[in-house]
Amino acid sequence: MPKISVIVPCFNEEAVLPKLFAQLGSAAATWNADYEIICVDDGSRDRTWELLKVQNQKDSRWRCLSFARNFGHQTAVSAGLHFATGDATVIIDADLQDPPAEILRLLEKWREGFEVVFATRKKRKDPLAKKILAWGFYRLLQKMTPLPMARDAGDFCLLDKRVVAVLNALPERSRYLRGLRTWCGFRQTSVEFDRADRAAGVPQYTFKKSFKLAMDGLFSFSAAPLRMATYLGLWVSAFAFFGVVFTLAQKIFAAQFAKIGLAPGAGFPTIVISVLFLGGIQLICLGILGEYIGRIYEEVKGRPLWILRDSAGIVLPEKK
Ligand code: UDP
Ligand code: MG
Repeated sequence: MPKISVIVPCFNEEAVLPKLFAQLGSAAATWNADYEIICVDDGSRDRTWELLKVQNQKDSRWRCLSFARNFGHQTAVSAGLHFATGDATVIIDADLQDPPAEILRLLEKWREGFEVVFATRKKRKDPLAKKILAWGFYRLLQKMTPLPMARDAGDFCLLDKRVVAVLNALPERSRYLRGLRTWCGFRQTSVEFDRADRAAGVPQYTFKKSFKLAMDGLFSFSAAPLRMATYLGLWVSAFAFFGVVFTLAQKIFAAQFAKIGLAPGAGFPTIVISVLFLGGIQLICLGILGEYIGRIYEEVKGRPLWILRDSAGIVLPEKK
């Protein structure tokens, strides 16, 4: 029998966990496979960890890890992947927005021979602003990277153990898993589903966290912003050059220009505007450079991606 691992990142999810245990448990019974469910507590401040430990005592197939602080969703999933032992691994949100019953469809595709099966959201129940921003982001990312990034596909997916091995071997810190999963290659396919509402509790992805994820996606998978800085510089220089030619002509043919209402005037506004314009462009380009240098700095420090505080059902190396 094949073994399936399921990774569930949990941050302050005490309200939804009892529903998750019931629904994911009964979905798993239909898979016709061995399974383990790895819940990663991402430094929750509520009773998430207590609930997870009790679940592990009830059913040892539920195994859990606890982070020393909140490291973020992508890191929690990365830790789960690190400890997953299944032939295939499914990544799913704790809040039941990704319906556990759909895992069966992911498994079917995997059994057909696909190594990466991701779920694409046909409809999503989220605030309007979030839907619009997400819509724009996926399209912008597609324009900026040569990789065939899927639109409207979240982290809900199935990965074959070979893909998991590749992901685990990647040392990078800003982990945009949807991008990394595309980067891996292998045979990929998608299934469509309707993304439900949160079953309970409140969203844990604040605007700030979503924005950081979007930036990680753009800057980790595209050097286009750097090139954009060059193009911007070229355009502004060209514009400035024509400005010089125009001003010279204006001085030499002052009478003719005056007739069509373009007499040379005092230069103060022109100077202020061009100084501000150039200053703005230089700051944007510095910011873009800074974004990449900051990321290089993060990588070079080489700190561990996460720190574990505790585990249940998983033996940590330091505890051995
Ligand atoms: N999550 C996490 N760490 C965080 C934020 C979120 O592990 O810092 C988990 C959360 O518990 C949930 C999943 O990531 O299982 C998705 O979060 P949420 O439902 O808040 O995001 P949304 O569905 O609104 O994008
Ligand atoms: Mg959610």
